[in-house]
Amino acid sequence: MSRHNAGGRHINIPIFVPHMGCPNTCVFCDQRRISGTIAPVSVEDVRETIEKYLAASSGEDHAEIAFFGGSFTGIPECQMTGYLGVAREYLDMGLVDGIRISTRPDYIDHEILDILKEHGVRIIELGVQSMDDNVLARSKRGHTAEDVVRAVGQIRGFGFELGIQIMPGLPGDTLEKTLETARKVVGLAPSQVRIYPAIVLKGTEMEEMYQNGSYTPLTLEEAVEWCAMMVPMFREAGIRVIRLGLHYSELLEDAVVAGPFHPAFGELVETRVILDMITGIIEEKGFAGCAGIEIHTWKGALSKTIGHNKANIKALKDRYGYARIRVGEKDWPPGQVRVSAIYRGDEA
Ligand code: SF4
Repeated sequence: MSRHNAGGRHINIPIFVPHMGCPNTCVFCDQRRISGTIAPVSVEDVRETIEKYLAASSGEDHAEIAFFGGSFTGIPECQMTGYLGVAREYLDMGLVDGIRISTRPDYIDHEILDILKEHGVRIIELGVQSMDDNVLARSKRGHTAEDVVRAVGQIRGFGFELGIQIMPGLPGDTLEKTLETARKVVGLAPSQVRIYPAIVLKGTEMEEMYQNGSYTPLTLEEAVEWCAMMVPMFREAGIRVIRLGLHYSELLEDAVVAGPFHPAFGELVETRVILDMITGIIEEKGFAGCAGIEIHTWKGALSKTIGHNKANIKALKDRYGYARIRVGEKDWPPGQVRVSAIYRGDEA
């Protein structure tokens, strides 16, 4: 019997599998630096982690085991099948509802996909980072955009659900290249994406590039702006954006040298997405010269519509000189925003 229940929460059971012997040299990656500090994950560790999360969840929850940490299918096969074997036991007992893994596009082939299928993996997330070959080469990813297209075709052929991770702001990247990457990702039709703007971490080649001036990371403002342009492209295509920015942890904060790292990055982007929607409506409807505006947004989106420290309200007042902005919530589906004008004499 499955634990899946529409009333339960979604529980992610994360299992970090560092790729100790990774032969690649991605300039942003700090796994070589931290690999000495992370103990290898044993099959028993996997079991313990699953048990710990299940003990803390209710029987109503929808639980999914997620193997992440780079290149799951690049680790030795016996190790990979050992981990998957444990996950499969919990799937077969109906104690979890799914298994997902993340890997590189060039670590996908028929043999690997057969193993993943046999072990009940449901979602494969590909670390794509960029669909621009120059950005991939300058970031020393060791694969091309064509490898992504090939891997996606194979993943589809086996009937897996597809997730894609992208990393705007890598060496050589521009807004145009990032938007082109987003367009190409939409064309690949994943069910979900994660967007992690590039961050300079201690001990990486990108840190050296940053120190010697050959790489400049995005500012926080740029990263928010770029992501806020991509998010609607994905949503309009029915692709869920399941993560914006790296998960905050003190360890990560200590490792950040430079770049658009912010503990509430996703919130900043969602706030900007709504601001862009509102300004789009104002421009389209010619409300720029009005005394003020009234905004209605969907239930649960009020704080994002107003923005942290009223950032959106301030931005709209600065840009359009509005004397009055009223904001309210309606029982509408997510993503729906309406703006109406307040004219002079109608300001009370
Ligand atoms: S990001 Fe690159 S270098 Fe780091 S583990 Fe993954 S493939 Fe290896």
